[in-house]
Amino acid sequence: MTDLGNNVKTIGFARVKLDVEYVSGVGFDIHDAHIAAAMAAQGIGVKLYRGRPEGRASDLVRQLLRQRTEAYHFCVTPYNAAPTLQLLRGIDALQPHAEFFLSGPLDGANDKVAAALRERSAWQADTDPGVIAAWLCRHAACAPAALSSPSSSPYLSGLLTVHDVVQTGLLAGPLLAAELQWLATQSSADAGPVPIWALQLAAPVLQATLDLLLAQGGGRQYRLHADSSAFTAAVYAQCAPALVTAIALDGADLAPDLQAQLATDPRCTIDNGARRTARCQLYGTNGHLALRTGSYFDAKQLPSLNHLELDADLAPAARRAAYAWAASDLDLRSAVVLRATERRYNELLPDLRTPALAETDGWPKHAYVLVAEPHAAQARLALDGKSVQFESADLPLAQLGAAGSTLRPGVQYFLQIRDSADVAALRARLALFERSGELHGAPPAVNLAVDNRCRWGVNGSCRVHLMRRLQVGPQGEVSTCRDTPAIGSTAQRYDDLVLEARKRQQLATVRRDCATCPVRSQCSQCSQMPEAFAGQYCEIRRAYPNMTLFFDMLGLPAALMPLLGDGSVAAHMQVSSAGMANRFYGGACGTARTGERPQIIAIGGQYIVWWRQQRRLLRISQAMAVIAEAWWTGAADADLCASLSAQFNVTADDAGASLATARTNLQQQGVIGD
Ligand code: SF4
Ligand code: SF4
Repeated sequence: MTDLGNNVKTIGFARVKLDVEYVSGVGFDIHDAHIAAAMAAQGIGVKLYRGRPEGRASDLVRQLLRQRTEAYHFCVTPYNAAPTLQLLRGIDALQPHAEFFLSGPLDGANDKVAAALRERSAWQADTDPGVIAAWLCRHAACAPAALSSPSSSPYLSGLLTVHDVVQTGLLAGPLLAAELQWLATQSSADAGPVPIWALQLAAPVLQATLDLLLAQGGGRQYRLHADSSAFTAAVYAQCAPALVTAIALDGADLAPDLQAQLATDPRCTIDNGARRTARCQLYGTNGHLALRTGSYFDAKQLPSLNHLELDADLAPAARRAAYAWAASDLDLRSAVVLRATERRYNELLPDLRTPALAETDGWPKHAYVLVAEPHAAQARLALDGKSVQFESADLPLAQLGAAGSTLRPGVQYFLQIRDSADVAALRARLALFERSGELHGAPPAVNLAVDNRCRWGVNGSCRVHLMRRLQVGPQGEVSTCRDTPAIGSTAQRYDDLVLEARKRQQLATVRRDCATCPVRSQCSQCSQMPEAFAGQYCEIRRAYPNMTLFFDMLGLPAALMPLLGDGSVAAHMQVSSAGMANRFYGGACGTARTGERPQIIAIGGQYIVWWRQQRRLLRISQAMAVIAEAWWTGAADADLCASLSAQFNVTADDAGASLATARTNLQQQGVIGD
């Protein structure tokens, strides 16, 4: 244990809180507040850390340091020991002379964690607030604090205000009567129910507490927290709904008839320990505080990971090393993804079942296993150890045409553009698309998605600098975008890799001169490319300005299934779109109209209007498609009627007679403007 001096003058109070499944945050509770108030009465400077619901560990450390105290007290349990140690280490790094005091049991905690905590702190196992206060006072070389004195009330002493009552609650005990009287005088009080902490009380004391609430509750409502062993029928009878809006009981020591009564009372919850899953305990014992991450809007400097992908054939020790490396930067909703052979897939499933995920000691939130045999015809996916009915397969773009009728309905195909054959196929398809508006996708029953689709997005949409997903290779090499070379290794800090990715992105932007590029608004500015592109990215993007539309349309037939019918095998499309040549109207054009022009797609003998952003679809006739396209391209009525006459074998007069009605219909549907 660290040699602590007996000269503590300021001390901050905090504790890591667990909810049913996760670390839920860091803050103080009513016991901390009473101990702090008692110590303040002895002349010690105290701070209560109010906490935030989410954040990275480094943010929490900074928040704790802002209290500017020379010592810190944490309540510990075996299940919050690991995250508490993480906080201690963070504080230690920035405030090397800080003193730490820990109270609570450590039996059952991770041995190494418990040893490290004891090494760095003064520790005692008792959880009684009076014992803790006396112990801390000894270290502060002041007289023992008396928790029954009014000056030990956090409310009566002014340490907490009426605005804290609903959040923190009141402690059942000798000061409750005085605190209720004080509360009755507070006019600006929050109207929510006030928690009453009445745990570890004998039944008569609990009953006396209810008597007190009835007599001095001052018209407020309360949420009662009590032990089930002390909760008798007589106590329950006093819990009138107008007074007690919620009853939270700890333990399973209720009389059977009372238990049956409470089961039908919606105010009542009984935590008999069963809800505290093995996952929670594993997580708390071995996990990291930062796994409960989101962001402190004022403090978060760097993003966090939500996807960590590993090869399942990596040695377990190497996998664990990768998890440990990423741990403090994983997002709350993180997932670990293991790429496995078929054999390994089946072996792994039992170990990956939640809630206790042995593979990662209880974290992260989800684990996926993908079968990814080289050149596999299909892949399978398991989520949290359970096989799900989801088949997928990688499909190189160069093979899309040949695959044709062999593509299987219901399978999710991931289209890849990785090698030089794929790049050549992409060029050929884009050239056809720009020239004729034509492209061949897959039939509607086949789901087609483009791997690394972000690469072909618009307007600087690359988000690699957020580093939300990473892959770790056999030698610890780290890559970001599935088909790109490594940007670093697990020997480097995650934050350094984020900076490296940002640096590469900025350098690429400058080197390519994106600021003056004519297709800038159409380009995601992908900064990490497969080697097969060999510097062709910008050239391809500039040569084919409608590329984003092309990629959006590749998977479109599946979305058109309701319009095309179940049995449709249509995979060939032709599109009419702003900035491209006309497809349906062959006459002379005028000045193109401005506005939000939807695409019109000819597929399987049908004509579909497609509002890409709204994902809205509308089927129209071929004649309507001609009229709509002619309207957008500013064609004169005479030219349009002549064109309709030639295309549909009607007289120009007949075409003209029905033109107004057709346009009205198209306007009402929003296909053309007014
Ligand atoms: S095409 Fe190249 S230069 Fe132009 S915006 Fe895209 S990445 Fe930048
Ligand atoms: S670098 Fe390219 S592939 Fe990676 S996230 Fe950015 S756009 Fe997507």
